[in-house]
Amino acid sequence: MDDLIKQAAGDLAAACNVVALTGAGISTESGIPPFRGKGGLWEKFDPMEIAHIDAFMKDPARVWNLLVKEMKAIVDTARPNDGHKGLAKLEQMGKLKTVITQNIDGLHQAAGNTDVIEFHGNFAWQRCMDCSQKYETRQVDISQIPPRCRCGGILRPDAVFFGEMIPQDAMWRSKQAASDCDLMLVVGTSAVVQPAALMPLFAKETGAKIIEINPEETPLTVEVSDYLIKGRAGEVMNQILQELKPAI
Ligand SMILES: [Zn+2]
Repeated sequence: MDDLIKQAAGDLAAACNVVALTGAGISTESGIPPFRGKGGLWEKFDPMEIAHIDAFMKDPARVWNLLVKEMKAIVDTARPNDGHKGLAKLEQMGKLKTVITQNIDGLHQAAGNTDVIEFHGNFAWQRCMDCSQKYETRQVDISQIPPRCRCGGILRPDAVFFGEMIPQDAMWRSKQAASDCDLMLVVGTSAVVQPAALMPLFAKETGAKIIEINPEETPLTVEVSDYLIKGRAGEVMNQILQELKPAI
């Protein structure tokens, strides 16, 4: 483990264009439960029933009551943890250029990363379905469900529901970023869901190093990653940064 931390610090010191690909695992230390897997929201709910765009269009109040209100309560109070902060520090050091994330919690931006590509949109914002005006989720008054825009339109999360397309510019920009990087950090994701799963492959294809930070092995570990540092994102990032500071 210590050797791998040293190796990661060395690889980061030598890299000029680092991209991070992140998933639910980086945000669990901020109290955000994952959707998939053990203890995930989808164990409690059928996503097709409450997180599909058709379900929202049919009955926005129901989806607000069953899902969006609960997510708002979680995201409103969540703060970046050492995993997010570590990636922000790597950007300040001039190493990290882009974060590609499957998360919708907005915590990378809150930590200070400035180029964040979000495959699934951002739940920190709500959008009017009529006039597209955006409101910060934290500021939205939910005494009436569904909450409404000043124009009377219904507010929806500025995130991607099941049944909706991943934004095209996110697809294009992430492919570009992955192909251009010389080191990719894969943090807190098993990267089995598309299009995230493709990003390490694009990076690898152009010769980038792939460093995985995850508590467990993933399908990437054997085939794609150069090495896996087993552990929680925050702890591992802290150790790497400690090692890296004297190195650059
Ligand atoms: Zn409106």
